Amino acid sequence: MSRTLIRGGLVITAAEEVHADVLVEDESVVALAATGSTVAEGWTADTVIDAAGKYVIPGGVDAHTHMELPFGGTFASDTFETGTRAAAWGGTTTIVDFAVQSVGESLRAGLDTWHAKAEGNCAVDYAFHMIVSDVDENSLKEMDLLVEEGVTSFKLFMAYPGVFYSDDGRILRAMQRGADNGGLIMMHAENGIAIDVLVEQALAAGRTDPRYHGEVRRELLEAEATHRAVRLAEVAGAPLYVVHVSAQQAVAELATARDRGLNVFGETCPQYLFLSTDNLAEPDFEGAKYVCSTPLRPKEHQAALWRGLRTNDLQVVSTDHCPFCFVGQKELGRGDFSKIPNGLPGVENRMDLLHQAVVDGHISRRRWIEIACATPARMFGLYPRKGTIAPGADADIVIYDPDAEQVVSAATHHMNVDYSAYEGKHVRGKARTVISRGTVVVDQDRYLGRAGHGRYQTRETCQYLV
Ligand SMILES: [Zn+2]
Repeated sequence: MSRTLIRGGLVITAAEEVHADVLVEDESVVALAATGSTVAEGWTADTVIDAAGKYVIPGGVDAHTHMELPFGGTFASDTFETGTRAAAWGGTTTIVDFAVQSVGESLRAGLDTWHAKAEGNCAVDYAFHMIVSDVDENSLKEMDLLVEEGVTSFKLFMAYPGVFYSDDGRILRAMQRGADNGGLIMMHAENGIAIDVLVEQALAAGRTDPRYHGEVRRELLEAEATHRAVRLAEVAGAPLYVVHVSAQQAVAELATARDRGLNVFGETCPQYLFLSTDNLAEPDFEGAKYVCSTPLRPKEHQAALWRGLRTNDLQVVSTDHCPFCFVGQKELGRGDFSKIPNGLPGVENRMDLLHQAVVDGHISRRRWIEIACATPARMFGLYPRKGTIAPGADADIVIYDPDAEQVVSAATHHMNVDYSAYEGKHVRGKARTVISRGTVVVDQDRYLGRAGHGRYQTRETCQYLV
């Protein structure tokens, strides 16, 4: 048995902040005791980590990533190996990625494909949601089996006709199934049928630059789809989790639904909190770096997102990490914004950007941990193994230096992508030591992890329902 003792830090969870020593045995936290107390002073360990002046926080849980996702004729540039290594560098120790059902195939075939991509390659722990692209009798039955084996959430798309899109009838059927089997329906809420008309009209009028990606994917079409998803979920009696909320009108729809007592939840992402249509409008095709869906919105929307995070109308911040290199990948859309692969890198930056939000006064420290660690773990059935520091929890722990200064840059990041969406941004705070199930994987700017350390996590059903 190996014992690790983390001494003298400020332990921050979603629930509290305490000066405590943390005792780890093998892969688990076994005890906490007040720093300087007789109990803590009596502990011995093989490894003692001095955390004085640092935060001791749960490893981040990023519930929305797309490693190696096939999209628009290319693949997201991070593999499970490079993407989870970058996650570890940034203090994230669990990712939930999306396995994809291709149209005409079974859920099982898609899930097996994603297991094969990830197995033996991950630096930190991982789990899967299932994208359901083809709702039929078979896939509905398979949903039950997947829930039983620990894949307890299913993503549907109101966008991307001809690829991932489901019509309202299919969505309703999947939601009814989720209401029965406990699976949580995750929704990409944008009216893709209407958006495709606006795309066609924009291109016909010669409006081909990246900024038009943002203009055709109208705020109202996100709000409308969000409203419709809420109503369909209500009819089905199912809980609903709306991914990557970016428009203030969509936040308002969620707030209204929650005020009515519905199990409706919303996630936003760092790009919507820190970037805007100003980035999409950058000249010389640079705007392509910021093309993602839902799109970045005008700056004014950020206040509504921060407010939603404070008031719990939004519960989770995930990255939707889906990187494509500027050279050779984003460039596929030169002269036609609709051919720019959709997605931004961010898995390495999330914990730091949200800590900067603490520094900036948008959220409290405990709320930082809640939206980045505890709630994503609860939402997707990983709590309290993940998302907190408590006896019995996995020893996924980050020693975080709140005073470190860094400048975000592609020159120093570890994601396999040739640009940073936050290039040049100064942030305060940095993960100094990152522990995954008792193993130190990053320490003082050295990577000590390995591909294959990360273990697949089966999940319970949603633990966040009212
Ligand atoms: Zn996504």
